[in-house]
Amino acid sequence: MFTSLKGRSVIVTGGSKGIGRGIALRFGEVGCKVLIVSRTLADAEKVAAEITAVGGTATGFAADVSSPEQARSMAQTAVDLHGGIDILCANAGIFPAATLDVMTPEDFDHVINTNLRSTFLTVSACLPAIKAQGKGRIVLTSSITGPITGYPGWSHYGASKAGQLGFARTAAIELAPFGITINSVMPGNILTEGLLENGPDYVKQMEAAIPLGRLGTVADIANGALFFASDEAGFITGQTLVIDGGQVLPE
Ligand code: NAP
Repeated sequence: MFTSLKGRSVIVTGGSKGIGRGIALRFGEVGCKVLIVSRTLADAEKVAAEITAVGGTATGFAADVSSPEQARSMAQTAVDLHGGIDILCANAGIFPAATLDVMTPEDFDHVINTNLRSTFLTVSACLPAIKAQGKGRIVLTSSITGPITGYPGWSHYGASKAGQLGFARTAAIELAPFGITINSVMPGNILTEGLLENGPDYVKQMEAAIPLGRLGTVADIANGALFFASDEAGFITGQTLVIDGGQVLPE
């Protein structure tokens, strides 16, 4: 039996849609106080309302995680409203496609800023409050794309997702003395609003490539995040969990 996370304060960036929404709902279900963060306040509030409708505690908050000021105000809001920060799920990310022949420096910077620099910004903004709790959990949403696989159009994206893992390995060592762990889930192809933007052909191609025969659900990823956030995962840090239905296995 896992120790209850009831009452813990959780921030989920990119919590208004897709995988982040799944993570927010799962933490809400187990009784956490959830701050749901996205640039679009109405979407974040909608997910918060789904949690409060079934008796949970959640608040929507608008922030662009690539802004240091907005990342700090996100952390301060969790402290003010939910009494501190126990768990940060740094999940917000984008995956616009551009092959190398057309990719501009601005395209590259935009993806790196949103996916990788934001990981640093949100972790550092939340650290003082997490340290104040005497222990804590950070869960990053990386990807199989970059650390393990490649896909045409996503060289910037792959670099950002592999970069998150490099960041986490050193962060894990620096944060260990404070009882804080940092680990990463590495989703394969998960049915989300963002993934569907790649079109039906992409979805069909991915389904065919997955040994378990289906795309993942947001709940599949949320369960991995919940495990890393548990007390029982307290001796695991700097590590990764691939959740992909076996997609990376075939030779
Ligand atoms: P999604 O459905 O497009 O949702 C993205 C979420 O991030 C939204 O809530 C979006 O809200 C938010 N967001 C984007 N840019 C933001 C910013 N600058 N500041 C704050 N929030 C921002 O995406 P998803 O498929 O769930 O992906 C979520 C994460 O999983 C990403 O890190 C992605 O790389 C990773 N991932 C996804 C898959 C997959 O198959 N879906 C696979 C591997 C990894 P706003 O637009 O309102 O800000």
